[in-house]
Amino acid sequence: MTVSSFAELGLTERLLRALKDARYDTPTPIQQRAIPLLLDGMDLLGIAQTGTGKTAAFTLPLLQNLEEDNIAASPRSPRALILAPTRELALQISGSIETYGRHMRMHHTVVMGGVGQRPQIEALRRGVDILVATPGRLLDLVNQRHADLSDCEYLIIDEADRMLDMGFIRDVRKIVAKLPDERQTLLFSATMPAEVAKLAGDILYEPERVEIAAKTVAVEAIEQHVHHLAKTAKRDHLSKLLEAPDLEKVIVFTRTKRGADQVVKRLARDGVSAEAMHGNKSQNARQRALENFRNGRSRVLVATDIAARGIDVDDISHVINFELPHEPESYVHRIGRTARAGAAGIAISFCDASERPQLRSIERLIKRSLDVVGEAPVGTVASAAKKDKDTAHRPASGARKRRRRPRRLEQRAA
Ligand code: AMP
Repeated sequence: MTVSSFAELGLTERLLRALKDARYDTPTPIQQRAIPLLLDGMDLLGIAQTGTGKTAAFTLPLLQNLEEDNIAASPRSPRALILAPTRELALQISGSIETYGRHMRMHHTVVMGGVGQRPQIEALRRGVDILVATPGRLLDLVNQRHADLSDCEYLIIDEADRMLDMGFIRDVRKIVAKLPDERQTLLFSATMPAEVAKLAGDILYEPERVEIAAKTVAVEAIEQHVHHLAKTAKRDHLSKLLEAPDLEKVIVFTRTKRGADQVVKRLARDGVSAEAMHGNKSQNARQRALENFRNGRSRVLVATDIAARGIDVDDISHVINFELPHEPESYVHRIGRTARAGAAGIAISFCDASERPQLRSIERLIKRSLDVVGEAPVGTVASAAKKDKDTAHRPASGARKRRRRPRRLEQRAA
């Protein structure tokens, strides 16, 4: 099915106006598939990474469903909950609600760690329709009775695999147990490790499954190069690359926080404006770094995988992997920062001798070999794309069907 406009998906005029303001004219594949299902009240298992337009895919129908329900939010009792693993992602989702809901009267707030809880408690007390939250702080507030989830009929869990990586799955389960059984539940994840599949099986009711393969994002739109070099030569090489003005807006990924700081220091010495973004920085410092990067004040953002997760900055010209990640899926997440929503982008990976096995796993996952730039030792980067054993994208086996009847379907049938 190809749908060429948002109007065909059944969205209301107010949302269409907001989309026009944001200059979106064509729904992305995940939006085309998910929006009609969600307007019909179905549960959804979305396998998609950042950059596919998934935030709009869940926010637009949520806004419309809440508006149709036409129920005023009571103090401390949000009507919808969106759980995100990081503060950055939570703030970004909140920004999307702001953008798409600008012609509606929908109250929302963000509850997250790292900042004072007083203003969050106040906002909850005034009543919110949509609550965006990171799991730890939300549980704190629920336990202190500042938030009550028993009226929450919509639940969206974003980046469930990252929740797992960060050790939040138990908190997520505790939170879900506080919601009513009758609700619409959505779970998004870029990959499907067994524990996430199990969570999905436990909390989704006869979900529709929409999978937007990460591979297509990576393979189709992004030029991907690998530079083979010694570990000790990486910093020099980075500074040299950044002499080229066409590297306009660049994210550099390092594996460690310390590595990120060292790269920033070196770039500063070479006169390149760069900022680091990682978990050791305060929430304010991270926001500032992101804002400086977004508005072009700094040309380079140096980030670790976790901190960069969900960063939503348009027009990133290049992604540079200063070190290759241990998990090949992270490579796909990283390079997905460029070439967002169809624009062209370039990814450059530095690979030293110790990283060759990681390079091979990446090439296996994306089923293509990266273009080698400079001299490569013969025989070291041949693509090993034979049998793809990528179980991560297989359907969740044994997913149990439970809970919540599709309320909206019944209403419509009535
Ligand atoms: P997400 O995958 O939700 O992080 O979204 C990726 C980026 O694509 C964000 O910068 C959105 O603003 C943008 N985007 C989402 N949907 C569309 C669309 N239909 N047309 C153009 N840009 C979009």
